[in-house]
Formats: sequence, C-alpha cells, structure tokens
Amino acid sequence: MMSRSCNYSRALAAGSFTTAVARDRAALDKALQETSPNLVIINQNFSKADELAITGTILERFPTLPVCLFFSQASLELVKKALHIGVSDCLFAPLRIAEITQTVDNCLKRANHIGDWNRTQVKITTASLQRRVDELQKLDTILEHIEDGVIILDDKLNILLINAAMRRTFGLWHDEAVSGKPVIEVLPHPDLKALFQLQKEGNTPTPHHEIAFDDGRVFTAQTNHIPGIGVAVTMQDITYLKQVDRLKNEFINTVSHDLRSPLTAVLGYVDLLEKVGSVNNQQHEFIRRVQASVESITSLVNDLLELGKIESGFDSQNEVAPLDGILRYALETVDGQILEKHLNLHLLLPEDIPPTRGNPIRLRQMLDNLVGNAIKYTPEGGDITIEMEAQSEQVILRISDNGPGIPPADQPHIFEKFYRASNVPKGVSGSGLGLAIVKSIVESHQGRIWVESMPGQGATFTVVLPLTQKTIA
Ligand code: ADP
Repeated sequence: MMSRSCNYSRALAAGSFTTAVARDRAALDKALQETSPNLVIINQNFSKADELAITGTILERFPTLPVCLFFSQASLELVKKALHIGVSDCLFAPLRIAEITQTVDNCLKRANHIGDWNRTQVKITTASLQRRVDELQKLDTILEHIEDGVIILDDKLNILLINAAMRRTFGLWHDEAVSGKPVIEVLPHPDLKALFQLQKEGNTPTPHHEIAFDDGRVFTAQTNHIPGIGVAVTMQDITYLKQVDRLKNEFINTVSHDLRSPLTAVLGYVDLLEKVGSVNNQQHEFIRRVQASVESITSLVNDLLELGKIESGFDSQNEVAPLDGILRYALETVDGQILEKHLNLHLLLPEDIPPTRGNPIRLRQMLDNLVGNAIKYTPEGGDITIEMEAQSEQVILRISDNGPGIPPADQPHIFEKFYRASNVPKGVSGSGLGLAIVKSIVESHQGRIWVESMPGQGATFTVVLPLTQKTIA
C-alpha cells in the first residue's frame, strides 16, 4: 500500500491491516514484487505522475489486484475514468477512519469473491481440458489399435497423422518421423499416387481403389475430404476376399466351360429336329422356344468365359487401336435396331482422335456393350449421344441417353457381376454381366469408367483411356 500523506496508513494499521508505504515508482514496483499486497491505494499525483496511467500499468500486470485511488481533489470525469480502467473504489479528502476501513474492507471482499470465482472457473476449465485430453488420448488409442490403416493429410498432402496399421502396411518403423512430410515421398506407391490423382480431380469421397503389393497383399483405399484439415485416407486389407473372389471366378469358369459343350450339342440336335422329319406348328413353336432359351444360356456362358479371360489378364494383345474407327464399325451393326426403335443418334466424333493401344477385339466388345445398353434402355423415339474427345494424354468417350436412368443407390453396384438396377423397365432382359465385362476391359487398358445419372433423365457413361507415349507422338 502506498501513500504520500499517510494518515490512512495509520488508520489501516489501527484496523489491524499490515501496510507498506511507497514514495516513488521504484519503491512501488519493489513493494509489488516483494510483498504481493492484497490491496493498493494510490494517491492522486503519486510520484508526480498521472495516477490513472500508473494504475493502468499495475492492472495490466496484476489484473485481479484491487486498486483504490485517493483523490484530494476529484472531478466526476476523473472518477469515471478511474472506474473505467478497473479501479475497485475511490477515496476522497477529507478522509474519515470509518470510511477508509469500510472502503478497504469492501475492496478486499470483492477481490476475494473475484478470487473465488476465478479459482472455480480455473477448476471447471481444467476439468474440461482434462476431459478433452482424455478424449484425445482415447481417440489416439483407438486409432492406434484399429485394424484399418488411417492417415490424415493436410491440403497439400503432407502427413499430419499416421496410425500403426498404416505404418505396418507400408513397412514403416514405429518411430520413423514422417509428420509434415509429403505422403508420396513417404509412401511411394503407384496405386496410392493414382488414388490422390482421383481425389485431386474432385472425386471425394473417392471410389474404393485397390492398392496391390508385390507380396500378394491387396488393400482397398478411400479418401475423404475433412473440412478445415485436409484429407483422410483409410485402407482395409482385402487379400482374403480377393482370394475367395479368384476361387469363385475359377469355379464359374470351370462350370461355364463344362456347360458349353452340352449346350452346343443340345442346340445342334434341336436344329436337326426339323431336318429329319416334318413337325407340326406346335412342335415348331416348341423348337423355337428351346432354341431361344439355349441361345440365351449360351450367351450367358460365353459372357462368363470372356469375363474370366479378361480378369485373368491373359489378354496380352497390345496393338494400335483406333477407337473412333472401332466405334464406327460397332455402330454399323446396330443401325437396324436404331431405326427400328426410331432413336435419334447424335455422333460427335472429331477427325483427329489419335489411336490408343490395346486389344481391338476387347475395345469393340466394350463399345458393343455400352452402345447396346443405350439402345436397350432408351425408349422408342429417344436420343442417344456419343461423343469422343482427345486430350493431351487421354481419349474420353461419353455415351448418353435419355432413358430411365439409374437410381443413385444402384449406381455404385451396376459394374458388379449379375447386378441389375431396381428400375430396369419391364420386359428388358439382360444378365447383368455386360457392364462387368466393360469395366474389366477398361481397367485392363489402364482406363477408368463411371456413370452419371438422374433417375428418369437418362444416363451418361464416361470412359477415359490413356494414350500411350507412342500414340501421343
Ligand atoms: P444388363 O444385361 O442387365 O443390361 P449390364 O451389366 O449391361 O446388364 O448393366 C447392369 C445394369 O445397369 C442394367 O441391368 C441396368 O439396370 C443398368 N444400366 C446399364 N446401362 C443402362 C442405361 N443406359 N440406362 C439405364 N440403366 C442402365
């Protein structure tokens, strides 16, 4: 406590307060530092300085310390300013002992209340912070122990966090410092690079994307945008599922293969029936029905065998393949169907499409299926638009129609074997294998395919195939 005229110092001492008196700034600072006072009283013009400025400085350093100002001559303006900067109370001349002790008591009580309130708030905040820390630790433990790989990246694809499963998958040491480093440098895997390319192109969440390792492990990975943070990549081990899938495909292939010979025999004998003797109209109709059914099973079996061949990667044919020419041939064979259904075909085919590389027979199969579906699913008089465009390193093919479209819930599955959407129009037959064949062909050519559709407003299938360096040149 500081004063120039110390009559209130005596009054306080009488009221069993311990007081200290500072006569200048240096003494005041020393007293503040050494005695940690409960209350400071500052005289007007203390140390010949502006008492408000000094009070302001003290309150900046000790915001909870009660400061009282003693005015020998006070104006209302001055008192207002004092209260505004946070002075607890003011004393005015002439001083009376009762008034001094009362004011000091009030200031101390208030300071105690504030102190209590502060302590309670600190307790509450500390408890809440502790809860947050506990939650974060829990999250950390969960993240470290889940079997799926998780990696969190910032917007520039630098690593923010990587969990134990992800480290194990890529063979990183537990304590290898990777935080802040570009993910592509730390995990230089071509499939992962392709996934980030997809994400860069705005596909978020990205479709499930396979990451295959040389030792036979296969993972499915997906990226999700996290607002304000960046990107989360999650990876699951699907090696076992891939093995089961391979076994299932082998089984389907064997069965399909074994079915083909008896089916050919059935068809041959049915064809012979009418040649070996006359049949009546009813018998003729039965023969026709048997032929139609056997042909449809044969086409299913053939599709399955084709799919098996493409998936097994036995198609090693890799030659220059002019996609525009193959498309023109494919369209020639469906001329009749287009005319019959009165469909309007809009063909946007520039002259200068460079050829891609691959297997022309498979590419033709891909086009047959996509064009065939557009014709099959578009109602009479509808529109089909086929456009092709070459960009620097790829050729883009879009086949759109204004048929029934595909419901959003079905869209992720239509490239799966035997899957047919829930809105397939009545009487439109199919095996659900065409798009699975198309997807396998596209992928075996290192391309991508996707569908965009609004139910009732048609569908657009987009195929992107890379132009190899040779064909670009
Ligand atoms: P399907 O033999 O049934 O045509 P696909 O594998 O070719 O089999 O296609 C899978 C499913 O995708 C179809 O059953 C259909 O529901 C949907 N689909 C494919 N193309 C179209 C299209 N152009 N318009 C509407 N739906 C389509």
